[in-house]
Amino acid sequence: MTLEPYATEIEKVVQKQDSSIEFGLTNEQVQKRIKEFGGNEILEGNPKSRWRILLDQFIDPIILILGLATFFTFLFSPDLLETIATLTVIILTVSIGFVMELQGIRSLEALRKMGATECLVLRDGKIKMIPSSSLVPGDIILVDTGDMVSADARLITVKNLSIKEASLTGESTAVEKDVKPLPQNIPLAERSNMVFKGTSVIQGSAKAIVTNTGLDTQLGKIQKISSTIEEPRTPLEKKLSQLSKWLIWLTLIFAILIFFTGYLRGMDIITILKTAIALAVAAIPEGLPIVATIALARGMLKLSKRQIIIKKMEAVETLGATNIICTDKTGTLTEDKMQVHTLAFEGNMLNAIQNEEHHFFEQLLQKKYFNKLIMASVLCNNVVLDNANKRGDSIELALIEFVEKLKLDSKKIKAVNPEQLEIPFNTNSKLMVTLNKNESNGSTIYVKGAFEGLVKYCNTIIKANKIEKFTNKTEWFELVNNLASQGLRVLGFAYKDIDAHSPKEDLLSQLTFIGIIGFLDPARKDVKPTIKAYKDAGIKVVMLTGDHPGTAKKIAEEVGLLTTGSNIEAVIHSENIKIEEELDTDNKERLLNASVFARVTPEQKLKIISFYQKNNNIVGMFGDGINDIPALRKADIGIAMGLRGTQAAREAADIILKNDRFTAMQLAINQGRAIFDHIRQFVVYLLSCNLAEVVSVGLVALLNLPAPLLPLQILFLNLVTDIFPALALGMGKGEVDIMNRPPRKADEPIMTPQLWSSTIIYGLCITAAVVGITAYAHFTLKASPSEINNMAFFTLVLAQLLNVFNMSKSEVSFLNNEVIKNPWVWGAIVLSIFITVGAYYITPIANALHLINLSTQQFGWVLVFALGSLALSQIIKRSGGTF
Ligand code: ATP
Repeated sequence: MTLEPYATEIEKVVQKQDSSIEFGLTNEQVQKRIKEFGGNEILEGNPKSRWRILLDQFIDPIILILGLATFFTFLFSPDLLETIATLTVIILTVSIGFVMELQGIRSLEALRKMGATECLVLRDGKIKMIPSSSLVPGDIILVDTGDMVSADARLITVKNLSIKEASLTGESTAVEKDVKPLPQNIPLAERSNMVFKGTSVIQGSAKAIVTNTGLDTQLGKIQKISSTIEEPRTPLEKKLSQLSKWLIWLTLIFAILIFFTGYLRGMDIITILKTAIALAVAAIPEGLPIVATIALARGMLKLSKRQIIIKKMEAVETLGATNIICTDKTGTLTEDKMQVHTLAFEGNMLNAIQNEEHHFFEQLLQKKYFNKLIMASVLCNNVVLDNANKRGDSIELALIEFVEKLKLDSKKIKAVNPEQLEIPFNTNSKLMVTLNKNESNGSTIYVKGAFEGLVKYCNTIIKANKIEKFTNKTEWFELVNNLASQGLRVLGFAYKDIDAHSPKEDLLSQLTFIGIIGFLDPARKDVKPTIKAYKDAGIKVVMLTGDHPGTAKKIAEEVGLLTTGSNIEAVIHSENIKIEEELDTDNKERLLNASVFARVTPEQKLKIISFYQKNNNIVGMFGDGINDIPALRKADIGIAMGLRGTQAAREAADIILKNDRFTAMQLAINQGRAIFDHIRQFVVYLLSCNLAEVVSVGLVALLNLPAPLLPLQILFLNLVTDIFPALALGMGKGEVDIMNRPPRKADEPIMTPQLWSSTIIYGLCITAAVVGITAYAHFTLKASPSEINNMAFFTLVLAQLLNVFNMSKSEVSFLNNEVIKNPWVWGAIVLSIFITVGAYYITPIANALHLINLSTQQFGWVLVFALGSLALSQIIKRSGGTF
């Protein structure tokens, strides 16, 4: 029986995988294994095959109606030319749908790849960052706090490793891991010497050897079972296809009505049938959902070029409605380039930056207890020192850098004082504790963390080379407040020597306070203008930080969240808020108006977000740590930083800012708003064009005017004049004032009552031109039925094309707006006219469309009526009748 990796000694696992713990796999081995095992990928849902996409085009209602129409028309009046023409239209429609859907899917795949995770691997003796998808069995991987595990792997070494495996086992508490072999056949949840793909490292770090990748992982097996799930559609797509369905039903009812009234009036059955079919074809905005998908996917691709990865399509829609952005402080609003700035030790305050060149530190180093501060800085510290590229928390990196400036060797200090126990930094206690062996055969506890959290455990203090009773705590509180008010991030340090026999349970008591260090982390220069831009766009920015209120206030002032010199009351201290309780109006208002919350725990972040959401806000949230994950998920838009954020945070987020720039969100919101505007524009455009077609055909039939439009002509219109301008509208840049207006209301539908009335007005203006020219040609010009039909047809083509210019906002001038400046719109118009002229001159197409030669004067009237329709809608628009 072959033993599973968890039941095998690690050396044997490594041997079996033909790998090496120190060297990893060689490049050659990797290439071979990629061929053998494939990439380490599990695709979400089954990607639609090309055949399936093609087949789906045929079960589209428009195609079904067309198929039936061709069949019946052929049955009643066999006309070969018309049948071929209709079949051509079917093929064309199917091809356009197929190409567009394929393009949409391709863009989404490209985006998915961009959002893919990376991992640290040892190959050819070197540690490298590689895309997780290229891991192979036998690879030696390194994981750290906040990482997502990229493949199933057997642990080689661990340090305080605990992993959240909820995605596999459903168990929400983290499990501790070690390396001991286990009995064969134990359940998944008990395999404590393994880590699994898709789980997240809550604490600690580890080295492991990959045993399974891709679909062979535990996650892959689950996915295989549920792989029938298809890519879910976004709410927007759902709304649009609902709209289309609703229109289909409406049209069918309308078509049946026309059919029966015609029949009762004793009209020719073939003509009525054709008219009814024409109507049905006219009304269905078949391009709507796919044009929307393309606009969304294109917007996402455009943003990805600016380093903004939108992971879920629906996020684009939500972006336009976001009105609160919650952000942390360090690294988002500040540079995250920590530097030791001030030291307070034994009652001395020392500016580390100014004193860098002096010999002041040399004097300090002479002091008996100064080395306690150094030891606490190095030992109570998780920075990885083994290679040239030091990795770790920025505040801890700053401590190591400081120690190195004093020409002390951190590595050596760590080697001489091996760690026996560690309580890692915790965002609730805001402390980190280690227990290390010391040189006098005992152990020392080192603690560092938020001053108010630490000081309550200290009863003695280092003072004038002696250990004294800690009586002047208030003075220290003042000092901490003072440093914080300068914008410094403050850490306190303490220690306690214990002998080998002391009980280890009571680590945090009777500590000796060493001193404090203030870190400088300047505000990012580009944040202030961005916050101003958000304000102009009706978006409120809220800082939620775990830091000291004083530090929070100073940074908030620097970035413009608070006005300089504002009262410290403006910062809400987490101790003073009870969000879960029913709040009275005053407190509710206070919370809604606040911009800065300090000493906030991850649980409180979650509560604050829920509070905002309950009060009808759409919340965006920046988060980077593993503790931020619930809040990132809870927020309407979770935003993670690509460089600084943990993998788990990036996984949970909807948006990843690859360049870590707070300012990038401004661009994303701008784009989100623009895309939504465009979707509205082309929905209004397509619906008003379709409405014009329906009402024109219906009215001409009901009024018993001659020569109503034919189904093929309407199909031609839908293919040529509808789709191209609609696509072009989706390519626009967005109005210039887009970031100067408030966000869209969350519950606002795509089609507001105002947009519906605009649609109806534009549709009726086009109808007026078509029915108008029909009546004018019939009664005044006394034209033949074919001429009347052709004039109505060309008027409809032109009026629909011109209708695109109605899509800009009524507040902007007709000659200077987003639509008129969009070169794609002009391209679409020229292309559509070119195709129409082609159809007019190419005899077989002209015959199929029943096009005859018209005189220049007749074309002149077409132009007059089409322009008339644009003029009419513009007059109504400019007098406040439409949007
Ligand atoms: P920000 O909003 O600035 O990003 P945060 O919400 O991430 O801050 P935390 O990292 O939870 O805040 O830090 C809160 C407090 O915990 C800090 O003010 C500091 O006193 C303390 N602290 C931070 N990092 C460490 C650490 N590595 N070890 C010990 N204490 C720490």
